[in-house]
Amino acid sequence: MSVRPVLLLGNPLLRALCVRVRQYNTPDLRALVADLADTLHDFRRRKGFGRGIAAPQIGDRRRVLFIDVDGPLALVNPEIVRSSRQMMTLWDDCFSFPELAVKLKRHLSVEVRYRDPEGKEHLLKARGALSELLQHEIDHVNGVLALDRAIDSKHIVYKSELEKLNLSARKEM
Ligand SMILES: [Zn+2]
Repeated sequence: MSVRPVLLLGNPLLRALCVRVRQYNTPDLRALVADLADTLHDFRRRKGFGRGIAAPQIGDRRRVLFIDVDGPLALVNPEIVRSSRQMMTLWDDCFSFPELAVKLKRHLSVEVRYRDPEGKEHLLKARGALSELLQHEIDHVNGVLALDRAIDSKHIVYKSELEKLNLSARKEM
């Protein structure tokens, strides 16, 4: 298995509507999941952030995500089946534009139906950090990026500038 290059903003594959996986438990699907895991873990080692990755970010048009929060989890054909009316506002980031931070709103909680690589169906109820991560990654398989959800264009900034502002805000306290 291997670490694959992460596609960057501007690459048209990041805008593709990905296709449903029809066959489970195949060597090909297992290889994709392993590559997503290797690429996520490599990125996190190098850049110091990252909890999830979607197949289109490594140039694969299948509806597959890999997240690693409390442990590794592969989600095949994930679908949001319920989302809270209550929203949360946060600064988001993405492997595909790693220098940027985007302020946006996400549902506070969601329920996601997905299959594991063996084809077994699961329902995941998520709130807070896991909820926004799942919404971010499911957007990817629909060709939607966090930038599209920015509150407005003033809320797309370099992370380094945001850190400077946060530091000076802390000093003023
Ligand atoms: Zn992303």
